[in-house]
Amino acid sequence: MTVASILANKGTDIVTVNPDESLLAVAQLLDKNKIGAVVAVDADGKLAGIMSERDVVRAVARGGPEALGEAVATHMTKKVVTCKNEDRISSVMLKMTEGKFRHVPVVNGGKLAGIISIGDVVKRRIADIETEWQAMQDYIAAG
Ligand code: AMP
Repeated sequence: MTVASILANKGTDIVTVNPDESLLAVAQLLDKNKIGAVVAVDADGKLAGIMSERDVVRAVARGGPEALGEAVATHMTKKVVTCKNEDRISSVMLKMTEGKFRHVPVVNGGKLAGIISIGDVVKRRIADIETEWQAMQDYIAAG
């Protein structure tokens, strides 16, 4: 099972921000879209960083409410771990576990092509386990 199979179901929409936007704008986007992270892109649409709800919480915890007026560029993670369409879902799970993050943008040929969250991965694993269980039941019933 690959990243492409998850994107085929969930779609390739990504909520992006400009690195100059404020943390308040990010918090509002996360709330409006019911998501946990946004991807920051530069003027050319290239991946510049990732900003998750954890970064917003950290900035406010350390800087107080004024931090909400600060720029995404100051608080985002700039070294983003990404995956490709052809990557196996298990390798994305490994990246999330090792890096202790819950979002992995998909980049194909240098182009942003979607985002995989830990929720997408878990949903897919549950569906796979259900399919395997049903196949096993059918095999037993046929025997
Ligand atoms: P998350 O678990 O996704 O809320 O993110 C936890 C922390 O990891 C935050 O500081 C994020 O900016 C950072 N982060 C999230 N996704 C990635 C990623 N794919 N690559 C690198 N850092 C990330």
